[in-house]
Amino acid sequence: MKIICIGRNYTEHAKEMKSEVPTEPVFFLKPETALLKNSKDFYYPDFTKDLHHEVEIVLKICKNGKHIAEEFAHTYYNEIGIGIDFTARDIQMKCKEKGLPWEKAKAFDDSAPVSHFVPKEKFASLSNISFNLNINGKLRQQGNTKDLIFSNEKVIAYVSKFITLKTGDLIFTGTPEGVSAVNIGDILEASIENQKLLTLNIK
Ligand code: MG
Repeated sequence: MKIICIGRNYTEHAKEMKSEVPTEPVFFLKPETALLKNSKDFYYPDFTKDLHHEVEIVLKICKNGKHIAEEFAHTYYNEIGIGIDFTARDIQMKCKEKGLPWEKAKAFDDSAPVSHFVPKEKFASLSNISFNLNINGKLRQQGNTKDLIFSNEKVIAYVSKFITLKTGDLIFTGTPEGVSAVNIGDILEASIENQKLLTLNIK
């Protein structure tokens, strides 16, 4: 399986990163070794001094597809969850300055913790889902999928022009504003519609 992450998919986050608001989806990949499941502990990596949280709604792909039409894209995912797109911001900034790829900053081991998944039918409207991240009991990020620049369907159609989607692949759909640093000892709790789905201890 592979993890596809959408960058700059919420306007306010693009602005806080001083990035342009994109006119087509921006995406990058994380390998299977980035996946961290079952709320296992996360160990702060020694190569960064500025590790940032990015809380994101995650789609689970349920059938293989290439060149998926936007009107059928909703049939290619059947569950959603919540995850953290951990980012070594100091390394990412250096890569960006030099025009280099971001993998060192984004694709390292355990950089993609994800919750268990919930059938999408449980939600009245997938384009109006609130989600948030608390750290040590304080609200740090909150978003709503109504603010997505590119809908789930647009993202699936776009990515599948370039890369075949396969059953079990995950799509991180982008983070709202409020990204900032985490520290050893922090407890992260991520929720969809106020239902806590992911707890993560930073060790
Ligand atoms: Mg992200």
